[in-house]
Amino acid sequence: MTSTLPPDFTLEGYRALIAALMDRGYAVVDFADARPEARHLILRHDVDMSLDAALAVAEVEAAMGFSAHYFVLLRSELYNPFAPAAMTAMRRLLSLGHRVGLHFDGAAHGSDAIDAAVADECALLETLTGAPVTMVSFHRPAAGLLGHAAALAGRAHAYQPRFFSEMGYCSDSRGQWGHGHPLEHPAVADGRALQLLTHPIWWTRTKGEGVVVRLDRFVDDRSRVVKEELAANCEPYRDRGTRM
Ligand SMILES: [Zn+2]
Repeated sequence: MTSTLPPDFTLEGYRALIAALMDRGYAVVDFADARPEARHLILRHDVDMSLDAALAVAEVEAAMGFSAHYFVLLRSELYNPFAPAAMTAMRRLLSLGHRVGLHFDGAAHGSDAIDAAVADECALLETLTGAPVTMVSFHRPAAGLLGHAAALAGRAHAYQPRFFSEMGYCSDSRGQWGHGHPLEHPAVADGRALQLLTHPIWWTRTKGEGVVVRLDRFVDDRSRVVKEELAANCEPYRDRGTRM
């Protein structure tokens, strides 16, 4: 069986992985429609670093006829969802038929303030995209939030038991299948539902590209954007090459 596993963290590898799950009788469904006992596949993406990478994965899914759920951070140093390019990317995600949810970083909030903070961030994200935010996922969740049964700010979240323990759950954290390949997951062997969490940055590697090399490429891309923005808005920076 191992020799048939799609090996590459590339866009083609992602396409092959989803196709392999389809070959096993799976159907892609949204969180709201997933039944743990069915061959239902939830495609979840936590956008930790790059909306450009998210869009690349989103185009592959749309070409296959599938829609996924993309979870966006509002409080990150790595991208700004209010920037024009980010808003263009999110509008494109929605136009491809995908959903945009809130990727919530609870680190800045006490546990008694999380519900209000989620409500505030969902409202901001809805204003930004013009689309309803129906799902929340946690960024680097505290252990106490895994399996947390209650809704947050009236919304379902990705670590509720029905999505996390009653169905299979598989993640590509740190750019690898740390807890086993999804095609070898017990839920897939049993024909039960699977929540597949992937981070788009890892799937926009070139063939054989290492995790750190990919992240260095991301840093270079961000640096180029910052330099272009400085040159467009700050004359001393724009003219730096012509002055002593
Ligand atoms: Zn995250």
